Amino acid sequence: MHDQAPIPPSSPQTALEDVETAQGWRWQMAHRVCTLAQMEPHLTLSGSERSGFSAPGLPVVAVTPYYLSLMDPTDARCPIRQQALPHPDDVQRGVGERTDPLGERERTPVPGLIHRYPDRAVLLVAADCPVRCRHCNRRRRDPGELIGGDAGLEEAVRYLQGAPQVREVILSGGDPLTLDDAALERICGRLRSVRHIEVLRVHTRAPVTCPMRVTDDLARVLAAAGPLYVVTQFNHPREVTPEAAAACARLVDAGLPMANQSVLLRGVNSDDAILAALCRALVRIRVRPYYLFQLDPVVGSERFRTPVAAGIELVSGMRGRISGLSIPTFALDAPGGFGKVALASPAIVSTAPGLVRVRTWRGEVASYPDTGDSDLTCPPWP
Ligand SMILES: *Cc1c(COP(=O)(O)O)cnc(C)c1O
Repeated sequence: MHDQAPIPPSSPQTALEDVETAQGWRWQMAHRVCTLAQMEPHLTLSGSERSGFSAPGLPVVAVTPYYLSLMDPTDARCPIRQQALPHPDDVQRGVGERTDPLGERERTPVPGLIHRYPDRAVLLVAADCPVRCRHCNRRRRDPGELIGGDAGLEEAVRYLQGAPQVREVILSGGDPLTLDDAALERICGRLRSVRHIEVLRVHTRAPVTCPMRVTDDLARVLAAAGPLYVVTQFNHPREVTPEAAAACARLVDAGLPMANQSVLLRGVNSDDAILAALCRALVRIRVRPYYLFQLDPVVGSERFRTPVAAGIELVSGMRGRISGLSIPTFALDAPGGFGKVALASPAIVSTAPGLVRVRTWRGEVASYPDTGDSDLTCPPWP
């Protein structure tokens, strides 16, 4: 599969428009850089990157030529490199780390369907991703956890038909956009046949790792299945390239609102200026920052872990300083399957009858005239 030396898309001999070239997503997938020998011609590898490749049990390495082209060829601290290049610690079990940190297996009533919250469910529709992120929380990649083919899809649809409380279905994986348009159209069509499902979401890193996947045809297919939100994962402003911006524009222009879920990664984006630059860049390309996640305690992720208090401080510190549209919710997913918990530094200083005292974004204390009337009755609706 990888017999041909990968060519970064920026090199002049590949500046063609044909989909069979570096500008096409299938070319990108087929020419992913996966081994030490394939990586070496492109980057000056550090000792730990090099030895990472030979760590026994290492989660698969795969990098699209596009994502590779964003890397600093000489500096291993490059935020793009850290997200995609292996490290010997990728196979070390840190304190409290698990293979299934979110307890997803226990919330799987039919294969490939995770149902943790009452009104929404996740469908795992694809095993692969364009780039295998080193911080992936679903790195276990157990094929038994995917919906298996058409029969599996029908089983999931039957489950959803019997679960009228589900209003939203999230396609995830792996990356759903490793499937072709026809497969996505079929899956979305089957979900649309369930009357009570109001909203679909596609959770994908393709706009970041393989923006050429986001074609006008794909945007049309997804828009036809709308209302559909595309949720992606930019983690660093360096990922907001003209190609990524154009991919997001194709989706948003087609009527697909976009949101972003970043993961807080030590040494990659654990910095207030980097996060502010990232969140502002996202708003400029019409991708609303949604969550910043505390890293899930998945086996082999310790090198990226930040203290929870640091994440709270980073996000709470954004309030007032940058546009509210640019500020994500900082959240951690409670290990064991308890769900997401939003975290913010406490703003209430004191409460007394008729008076709440709050801490402002500048650290001043302000008073609000609270009411004692707790009758919240409204006219009946609907
Ligand atoms: C994160 C997650 C969701 C979506 O949660 P939102 O807060 O609505 O984005 C749904 N189901 C599962 C299992 C999840 O992990």
